[in-house]
Amino acid sequence: MTIRLYDTAAREKRVFEPQDPTRVTMYVCGPTVYNYAHIGNARPPIVFDVLRRLLMATYGEEAVVYARNITDIEDKIIQASLESGEPIEAITQKFAAIYNADTAALNVLAPSIEPWATAHVGDMIEMIGKLVRKGYAYVGSEGVWFSVKSMADYGKLSGRKLEDNEAGARVTVDADKRDPADFALWKFAKAGEPDDAIWDSPWGRGRPGWHIECSAMAAKHLGKTIDIHGGGIDLQFPHHENEIAQSECAHGQQMARYWMHNGFLDMGGEKMSKSLGNVVLVHDLLERWHGEVLRFAMLSGHYRAPLDWTEDLLKQAKTTLDRIYGALRRVWEAEGGTAADRGVRRALEDDLNTPVALAELSRLASDANLAADRKDAEAMASARANLVAAGKLLGLLTLSPKQWEQGGDDDGNARIDALVQARIDARAAKDWAEADRIRDALAAEGIEIMDGSSGSTWRRI
Ligand code: AMP
Ligand code: ZN
Repeated sequence: MTIRLYDTAAREKRVFEPQDPTRVTMYVCGPTVYNYAHIGNARPPIVFDVLRRLLMATYGEEAVVYARNITDIEDKIIQASLESGEPIEAITQKFAAIYNADTAALNVLAPSIEPWATAHVGDMIEMIGKLVRKGYAYVGSEGVWFSVKSMADYGKLSGRKLEDNEAGARVTVDADKRDPADFALWKFAKAGEPDDAIWDSPWGRGRPGWHIECSAMAAKHLGKTIDIHGGGIDLQFPHHENEIAQSECAHGQQMARYWMHNGFLDMGGEKMSKSLGNVVLVHDLLERWHGEVLRFAMLSGHYRAPLDWTEDLLKQAKTTLDRIYGALRRVWEAEGGTAADRGVRRALEDDLNTPVALAELSRLASDANLAADRKDAEAMASARANLVAAGKLLGLLTLSPKQWEQGGDDDGNARIDALVQARIDARAAKDWAEADRIRDALAAEGIEIMDGSSGSTWRRI
């Protein structure tokens, strides 16, 4: 029952203990909604969805409160609006809907709370006011800045020292800031910026910085100290470092008890990213592959390690899932068993070890095949229950084997059922030529007939 998680802040695996087991809180930084998500962007929602499922299995479905925000105020969105002439809201509504549909197709459960930045500007202003009053922030001519030197342990999450930042040429020196590492809490509006990206504040018209959005929304919905905060490793610095600075200075208490970061998804040895131009969109992948194939491929690597995204990885994921669903089909009618196997659960409890969990899932599929070979009804019922329960933890095997193998619509499937039956009749009448003709015609459509001891079934390949 012990869950161990690697805490980026502590730099080690720690036993997970929530503040309150009846309300376990998680916050994961969500998408900036101005274009399609690439498959690298899907790694955090999938990984933290597995963690959420494990926590739900441990503490109860209702006990886990999972917030994933929508960043609908951000420079890139403003840029997109200026370029296309479309109002900001039209852009953000459209791409948030696409994001939610695409992640749902990856079997990612909808978050319990989905806060939008635009609905929380008042909370952000209140928090910035607190930071100014307490002496952690100051007003310049371009905006309100957080003063990193005012916080004794600034940099503790990433382990960066302020001197490191100053030495690096990447931080542009800005006359408006007292220290090059100071960051914007509020940015004053500039000429030419659209009205729908401008709000009033006690310091002047403008918009919040990205970091304060998450600090304010996490506190509002989950409390001043949350259990788990997650995101991609690129967010560790500066985004999460700055969230900690704002939240801990405003509230005087720890922001998150566990910090978790997923590694990068790479392609051809490079991080998949819009700026490198090597992105594959989730939306496009879903045209070619079932969401469970993409999810299986994503979980085939450990979440903290880099994962190389290749066509081969997808093919392998599809083959393995076909095999597992094939085993599930053989025990599908054996209902009423209890799930007692803990292999998948144990693997996930060890810092979400999904490669081991998927190997355990394959082992359960072998158990199902053995039970079916032996025609052992009791073993078949346990195997079915174990596979379905393990699938639920991983967000896999959510279809019936028939749906997985046959897909398609009811009318199309009824036509194929009729052809398969016609072939059975032809064989019974020893009309081998007709039986072969039907098999070949179906094969040409990408349909494989599988003859077994209990009759013939078919699948799309
Ligand atoms: P962005 O749209 O760049 O703000 O990214 C949204 C989320 O996806 C963040 O949590 C990032 O850390 C994460 N992310 C972006 N690119 C990758 C990648 N190649 N691999 C894994 N995670 C990524
Ligand atoms: Zn965030």
